[in-house]
Amino acid sequence: MEKKSAWEILSEKGRLKEADKLADSYIRFLNSAKTEIESVRWIRRIAEENGFKSVEEVKGLNPKEKLFATARERNIALIRIGKKPLREGFRIVASHIDAPRIDLKQIPLFQDSELALLETHYYGGIKKYQWVAIPLSLHIHLVKENGKVLDLVLGESEKEPAFTIADLLPHLAQKQMEKKVKEAVTGEALDILAGSMPELSSKEKKDKEKERVKENILKILKEEYDITEEDFVSADIEVTPAFKAQYVGFDRSLIGGYGQDDRICAFTSLQAILEHTDTEYTTIALFVDKEEIGSTGITGMKSPFLKGVIRKLTRLAGEATDVEEVLENSKGISADVTGGINPTYKDVYEIRNTPKIGYGISTTKFTGSRGKAGGSEATAEYMALIRRIFNQNDVPWQTGELGKVDEGGGGTIAQYMTNLGIEVVDAGPPLLGMHSPFEVSSKADLYSSYLGYKVFYESA
Ligand code: MN
Ligand code: MN
Repeated sequence: MEKKSAWEILSEKGRLKEADKLADSYIRFLNSAKTEIESVRWIRRIAEENGFKSVEEVKGLNPKEKLFATARERNIALIRIGKKPLREGFRIVASHIDAPRIDLKQIPLFQDSELALLETHYYGGIKKYQWVAIPLSLHIHLVKENGKVLDLVLGESEKEPAFTIADLLPHLAQKQMEKKVKEAVTGEALDILAGSMPELSSKEKKDKEKERVKENILKILKEEYDITEEDFVSADIEVTPAFKAQYVGFDRSLIGGYGQDDRICAFTSLQAILEHTDTEYTTIALFVDKEEIGSTGITGMKSPFLKGVIRKLTRLAGEATDVEEVLENSKGISADVTGGINPTYKDVYEIRNTPKIGYGISTTKFTGSRGKAGGSEATAEYMALIRRIFNQNDVPWQTGELGKVDEGGGGTIAQYMTNLGIEVVDAGPPLLGMHSPFEVSSKADLYSSYLGYKVFYESA
């Protein structure tokens, strides 16, 4: 089986210019939407600009109708009604919009050695040492006791302060350097530097007992943002890298940036549903939260969000069917990234079955680890369908798994989609440095993924 480079295929088909354009707009998305709430708002805005209406606003369903449904600003589904009745099933491409990061604890602020710091609990599978000594931004979504919502982002523009986790200087790191990498920076060591200036106006300023640096931070929070210490209890505060996504390499063929797992699939499936031609089946682009911690909770794939969307649609259509029937007749792609071969660490991959950067969207027949445990596997029949759709439409594609058999592995939302009765396969672009603050993707794979999702939607 000879696989051609995606670059060659896209060049032959005259699609390189389009790929450039898509990458420019992808970088803008990465820089504007680093959290799930920011992603949902972005997707909703683009949907509305493209004529999508809220399911809450319409009275009935017409073919070609473009709709969206959201839940808690952390889930969103874009829907395009097809010609066939809903009971015949949907074509669903689902991605996740959460990404590994660091969250603040409920009582974060403390003072130590005349510095103000913030306690954190990391989210998702991170290599902790990667998150020290880089600029960080704070994405605050805070709900006051009276229900008033405060959204505040600090560190993303040069006008705002950034944050960081100070590392130990090499001169004094002898003990740290001898530790295993996973122990060198512990979870509790991920304290964020938040200030250093004491409160100067207070009458008690000579009182050494008082934590005046912390007091000063609390004063700033109160005066500038009307935030009290207790307000942190009802807040989602996410810490992400502050730096921007940008092209990588002399040839600008790669894209480096935070949160590409899985916003590269969110972005390309969004683009695909905006641009696909009229279809027989109703199509859905589904964007969910909490994949990185097991798809749990009220906003994860295990929540009833999708079922609720389908219930609303069947009611609007006035069809005599139930949610289960629609789901069982549906076909889906779990749109998620996979690991591409990193030439520096070849020994963890089995070369013949690992996706390569620049070789297109990669299907992953099965996930799981150490004997496929805990994963999801697509049937041979479904793989044949996906392969046919990709081949018939000149989509640059490859296939592979995450790494060597006993090396490790992972899961996606695929298994939770199959639990609903949807036939599913994983398909998405390979990344380098997945889950790091600066993940790398290929412009050719970005475009191939968009194309793959689009032709899947259009397939009968
Ligand atoms: Mn993912
Ligand atoms: Mn992930």
